[in-house]
Amino acid sequence: MTRVFNFSAGPAMLPEPVLSRARDEMLDWHGSGMSIMEVSHRGKLFLSVAEKAEQDLRELLNIPDNYEVLFMQGGATLLFSLIPMNLAAGKVTQYIQTGSWSKKSIAAASKICPVEVVADSSGTGYDRAPAQATWDTVPDSSYLHYCMNETIHGVEFPFVPKGLDCPLIADCSSNILSRPMPVNEFGLIYAGAQKNIGPAGLTLAIVRKDLLDLCPDSIPDVLNFSKLAASDSMLNTPPTYSWYLAGLVFEWLKEQGGLEEMERRNRRKAQRLYAAIDGSDFYHNPVQHDSRSLMNVPFTLADSSLDAEFVRQAEAAGLISLKGHRSVGGMRASIYNAMPEAGIEALVSFMAEFERKSA
Ligand SMILES: *Cc1c(COP(=O)(O)O)cnc(C)c1O
Repeated sequence: MTRVFNFSAGPAMLPEPVLSRARDEMLDWHGSGMSIMEVSHRGKLFLSVAEKAEQDLRELLNIPDNYEVLFMQGGATLLFSLIPMNLAAGKVTQYIQTGSWSKKSIAAASKICPVEVVADSSGTGYDRAPAQATWDTVPDSSYLHYCMNETIHGVEFPFVPKGLDCPLIADCSSNILSRPMPVNEFGLIYAGAQKNIGPAGLTLAIVRKDLLDLCPDSIPDVLNFSKLAASDSMLNTPPTYSWYLAGLVFEWLKEQGGLEEMERRNRRKAQRLYAAIDGSDFYHNPVQHDSRSLMNVPFTLADSSLDAEFVRQAEAAGLISLKGHRSVGGMRASIYNAMPEAGIEALVSFMAEFERKSA
């Protein structure tokens, strides 16, 4: 059996050593005679897995003690719907619109609370992270929300907003754990697991404890960040297998040298791919250089009638899921932590060969 290089935006590749270990532990977890999937989430066995995963995540991201880590379900979509329910506190909320995901979070919040869109790059085709100096912020808001990495448009903020008079909230679904992040500068960050953490079904929220006082008692407990935190994310049955696998990914990341090392690798990978795109008239990436994502690299072919052939030949070469999102077309290579540098080399060689044959 050969494994392919899978460029899917999510669910995405997982590190092969993690999959092998999960396979080895599948039938008999640490001599228990059971799979970790089969044990009570409240029993000693699973609690040891859950606590270790949280501890490792805290180390990796350097999460301060005044932050809770919530291991939830429902995806980033549930999270960006719950954030206004929990934290709007009857005030206006501020949003930055830089692509499909922030647009969806704005639509979700608009059903729940007043929303002010204080910056919007749709006018230039979502090709940039708007500089903070251009934002039209409003006073006395409950929070400012942005999407740190727009998975579909391939736009990543090269800066963390500074000097705001309200808590900062970021959707980090597609770039969490790709590099160190100053968690202490955020009120809340969240991410669905299936891009850079583990399998689908788990969603992480890292929230500053003082914000939990804002969560209204009127919403259902299972949607209430404060209640979830008070129950250590075990108000009801959590996604135990996804939590366990995320824990294996965290261990793997620590073995690799942590997030500083991941950032070095991810920068090398992205630079290699962008250089190949920029060095050719055949391929094109529309995003401004300083806002280009390290994780999701969309590109178009000069002749879009070759798109289907590109995808077909790439698949035959073991390079899978390069077709761009249906809303933007073209191609997209998602190159999360689990994508080895050999995958980038294989893609870059394939692209050069395809261009040569098509000339
Ligand atoms: C994938 C993604 C989402 C949606 O995630 P779900 O888990 O499918 O709800 C939201 N935001 C970003 C940035 C994403 O990449």
